[in-house]
Amino acid sequence: MPHRAARRVSFRRLILGGVLVVGFSVAASMLFTHLSFVSFGDLEYGGAMWAAAIVPLLVAPPAYGWIAWLSWRLHRANAALETLAGCDALTGLANRRAFVEDARARLAAGAPVQLLIADIDHFKRINDSMGHAAGDLALTHAAAVLARAAPEGGLVARIGGEEFALLVPAETDAAALVARIAGELAHMPVPAAAGLQRMTCSFGVAVAQPGESLDALLSRADAALYAAKDGGRDRMALAG
Ligand code: GH3
Ligand code: MG
Ligand code: MG
Repeated sequence: MPHRAARRVSFRRLILGGVLVVGFSVAASMLFTHLSFVSFGDLEYGGAMWAAAIVPLLVAPPAYGWIAWLSWRLHRANAALETLAGCDALTGLANRRAFVEDARARLAAGAPVQLLIADIDHFKRINDSMGHAAGDLALTHAAAVLARAAPEGGLVARIGGEEFALLVPAETDAAALVARIAGELAHMPVPAAAGLQRMTCSFGVAVAQPGESLDALLSRADAALYAAKDGGRDRMALAG
């Protein structure tokens, strides 16, 4: 695994760096003290103390700078990995992992929210008739439409293959939001060039109850989504 290999390389470099710094300090200190004795004959206490102080003063700052630089690079690599770990590679939206983490925090804070799960209708047909690349374009288009339509502060994520989640304030007019998304989804500037037909979505909507867990909210929104599919697709259903 690349992550583990990268970690091993950094760890080895840190150990090697430590050994080099300590070895160099000891050697420099011994050499400097030796030269002091050679130059000044029988070195008295004050001279020996100067020799003891000068070497660490010369060696420690660059050694510390080097370790600080390594740590900074490690910190930057960690931050980049953390961002990647929560990002869906195809659409750039938050992925399921990031969604669950963020949504749980919002529910735990008691934020009044509602969850919309959007599932593209008959998506398999797009893949089957036009190929996986056109399917990917359609997914990217849907993600952009959802991200644009989401109200300020809303959470948008790709939580499955052709399934998206929107966590929005409870006071958001879900029907109006769904209508806006449906209207924009139909205009597919990029996939249309690949010959795609009109794309539609079905939506399951659930308003979070006080103290409700994310799992319970997801499962109610999912049940509503199934109802929307059963009702003929290209529509929204509200959870009971
Ligand atoms: P329904 O209306 O009932 O939701 O039907 P559907 O065809 O949309 O649903 P189904 O679950 O049968 O098919 C989903 C398809 O999504 C199957 C899978 O190959 C495709 N898919 C999942 N992830 C990706 C992806 O990243 N890229 C592409 N191109 N296709 C994907
Ligand atoms: Mg689908
Ligand atoms: Mg699906």
